[in-house]
Amino acid sequence: MKPRNIQDLLTHVRQPGTLSAALTGVIGSGLAAGRRPLIRQLSEARFQKLMNEFFPGCELTNGEGNPGLRPTGSDEFDDLVTLLLDHRAEPSEALAWLAFAMATAAMGENHLWQDMGLESRNLLSALIGEHFPQLHALNSANMKWKKFFYRQLCERAGVPICKAPHCRECCDYAACFGPES
Ligand code: SF4
Repeated sequence: MKPRNIQDLLTHVRQPGTLSAALTGVIGSGLAAGRRPLIRQLSEARFQKLMNEFFPGCELTNGEGNPGLRPTGSDEFDDLVTLLLDHRAEPSEALAWLAFAMATAAMGENHLWQDMGLESRNLLSALIGEHFPQLHALNSANMKWKKFFYRQLCERAGVPICKAPHCRECCDYAACFGPES
């Protein structure tokens, strides 16, 4: 069966859970948007393993990228994948697939939970708490997840992005901590 959207994928999920929900959401959103590859920088062989593991019976390829799109290394995708891989709860292949999927969605224009096709920000927070517990603990102030990840990348690179020493005094407070809906 060739899935066309999240609903089609849901009929093939082997085991419900946060990881399945995230992969369903990212792949299904990519299908609906016509995005290729569905998960950036995941080889076709790795993508097929993912499909067999999480969506047995589904016939789907990751696909080739559009040559007109931004080339590898021209955005923060690689750095974000590295950040997520470094903070996996365990060094498993399944959590590597999740890292690539999350970074793919994070390149979208909306809140991360929306571009991941999840039902709510709470579900995204639960997912991060389960599979990237160190990152979840670091975001104790409940910053917006995409902002939090970019702040982590800036800290790693030694590039200060913040306009004030404390968030409460910063003119960007609403942008970093406002509601995600
Ligand atoms: S509110 Fe200001 S200081 Fe806090 S993370 Fe955002 S930009 Fe940085």
